[in-house]
Amino acid sequence: MIKFIIASNNKNKAAELDRILNPLGITAVTAKSEGVSLDDVEETGETFAENAMIKAKAAFEKTGLPSVADDSGLVVDALSGAPGVYSARYAGENATDQQLIEKLLKNLEGVEMKDRTANFVSSICCIVDKDTIVTAEGMCDGYISFAPKGEGGFGYDPVFLINDGSGKTFAQLSPDEKDKLSHRGKALRMLYDKLSKIIAND
Ligand code: IMP
Repeated sequence: MIKFIIASNNKNKAAELDRILNPLGITAVTAKSEGVSLDDVEETGETFAENAMIKAKAAFEKTGLPSVADDSGLVVDALSGAPGVYSARYAGENATDQQLIEKLLKNLEGVEMKDRTANFVSSICCIVDKDTIVTAEGMCDGYISFAPKGEGGFGYDPVFLINDGSGKTFAQLSPDEKDKLSHRGKALRMLYDKLSKIIAND
């Protein structure tokens, strides 16, 4: 098994990446479990791709091992793309998911459904070695609901209406159903395809 460092302390993201990469003979572990802290890494990029690159590079430089990072968030058209790269910090540094949702719904007050279009974006950067950088991006479009619905998922899931006419939010889907549609699921499948070609050519 080749060991990849995940530049994130988020256990859900780590488990998801590990599950996807295992069939390629790759095991993904968090930087923390290797005794490396990435707490000092600032996400100063203006795009998801830039932030993913900053995090992956920091992990690669600190460990010397192949590293992978994901940066994701919600882009709302009626808010000129906010919260975007600030999705996690939209309601302050340590805001809860509920506070994030309350702020988003408040800022969309008076906006009718047809104008509540939004996209989830996930950008992944994987540094295999100093000469091999693999990137992947996935998007999922939908609408922001008027009120939260559903118990599953995390973050903005309860207010993200999927674009299939079912009226369901991401929080009303099973993890497998969400994976099939989601920005992160799409980005991870693209990453898998690109990495499998690189590994097959080695
Ligand atoms: P990151 O850890 O810097 O990538 O922060 C991404 C933030 O965007 C999270 O804290 C969530 O608030 C939001 N986000 C990203 N992906 C999702 C998702 O699949 N569902 C709900 N919220 C998400």
